Amino acid sequence: MGSSSAPVRRYHHVINGADHPSGAGSIARHAPDTGELVAEFASGDADTVERAVTAARTAFDEGPWPRMTGADRAAVLRALAASMERDRDHLARLDAEESGKPIRQALANVDASVALTQHAAALALSAHGDSHTNLGSDFTGLVTREPIGVAALITPWNFPLLLLAQKLPYALAAGCTVVVKPSELTASSTVEVARLAHEAGLPTGVLNVVLGAGSVGQALAESDAVDMVSFTGSTATGGKVIEASRHGAKKLSLELGGKAASIVFDDAEFEDALDGVLFAGVFNNGECCVAGARLLVQDTIADRFLEQLVARMEKLRVGATTSPATDIGPLIHAEHLQKVQSYVDGALAQGAKPLTGGAPLTGPGFDDGHFYPPTVLDAVTETHTVFQEEIFGPVITVTRFQDANEAVRLANGVRYGLGNSVWTKNIDTALTVARALRSGTVWINTTIDGAPQLPSGGVKESGYGREMGQAGFEEFTELKTVQIRSGRRTPFFSLGERP
Ligand code: ADP
Repeated sequence: MGSSSAPVRRYHHVINGADHPSGAGSIARHAPDTGELVAEFASGDADTVERAVTAARTAFDEGPWPRMTGADRAAVLRALAASMERDRDHLARLDAEESGKPIRQALANVDASVALTQHAAALALSAHGDSHTNLGSDFTGLVTREPIGVAALITPWNFPLLLLAQKLPYALAAGCTVVVKPSELTASSTVEVARLAHEAGLPTGVLNVVLGAGSVGQALAESDAVDMVSFTGSTATGGKVIEASRHGAKKLSLELGGKAASIVFDDAEFEDALDGVLFAGVFNNGECCVAGARLLVQDTIADRFLEQLVARMEKLRVGATTSPATDIGPLIHAEHLQKVQSYVDGALAQGAKPLTGGAPLTGPGFDDGHFYPPTVLDAVTETHTVFQEEIFGPVITVTRFQDANEAVRLANGVRYGLGNSVWTKNIDTALTVARALRSGTVWINTTIDGAPQLPSGGVKESGYGREMGQAGFEEFTELKTVQIRSGRRTPFFSLGERP
């Protein structure tokens, strides 16, 4: 199980294309399923951050990357995508071992990351601004799209490679230079991507990686040499990033917490809805900001739906990340397992009814890791803490509703607004509900789907800014308006004709 005989990986920061030794010791990463030491990451300090942002600043202000053609940048990104594809198994294994996600899901994350990198390459080729010639024959306006400058990319542990790929290739396609700060729990795939990018021909200093805990991210967000921060993580940490980024009034793009609802109407295609609710609830161990953590089900079908949902959940295989048979892996660390358990205990104290799961798994194969079974809590109301707060584990809460108005009120009754899913075969219901939901994404008769072309992001306390798609590319650019008069300009002040 897990990583057994593989040697411990050791990663340094990457600054100006070279390994840069640690600033303040190192951080050990133990696999969340076996407890074995799998990696040691350098831990940066203020000096490391300063060196990395200086490298990125110099590469932006003086280097070739922002000045070369989009076609040349696209060629580097395509080569990077090809090497990620070549190293698919290796990259997936790093993410699975460190994050606890099942290997099948980690492989799918690599495939999606390759597709995102290819999409960003296509955008680099086709990026352009606007020209305005209907302002009169002697007045022309050019609106150019320029790279925003040095972008700090701060990523969390639940999708180490995928969330990097939602930011990095788009920033590079735009002509930005970057400093990445991956999570201290799951940094390996990010350093590997930096290596692959340099092999692919990325000039030195364009992509720098600093490793370490939150203080490193904080120093990046504060740095005067950084023009933009793109952050994915918790809403609480996002608040700190907003504060830190006040230095220099940096642009921000924030993808924060979520509390998505799966809304199932009684005219839904039953099997599809069951499969979708299950997938949305426990995919990536439920450690997913768009997880369908709240099932809202119409009361006319609720009992039958729940019976079959529970039967399916009990068939899921919980186990080692590296086993292809595993559906649900271990949670990220012991403290998080305790947090999930305390949410479940709190819900039971508030009147929720457990239908399956509800306590950590123990016994052979489980004792060395942080395993939590798929869990369903029925009779949850909107006043319960588990309805309102992000649990980030394989736990689905159930709340029954009578009609579409009540479903929308319940779905919108949280401080988050990242994604929601609607299951119905009635087109009027589907569209009315989709339009009334306050979230950056709405899925109809599907869930946690996506494509590189489709932007993703949140409203309310789930953040602002978009990733992926044309909008995700444009986040890393700034508009410049160039106004041109041809011929003589009519004087504004008639200086010779004063009364
Ligand atoms: P999670 O543990 O859910 O990933 P965080 O939102 O704390 O939660 O972490 C997301 C990323 O933000 C990680 O890379 C983390 O190290 C980093 N981080 C933590 N604290 C800060 C901070 N104050 N400023 C900037 N980045 C931070």
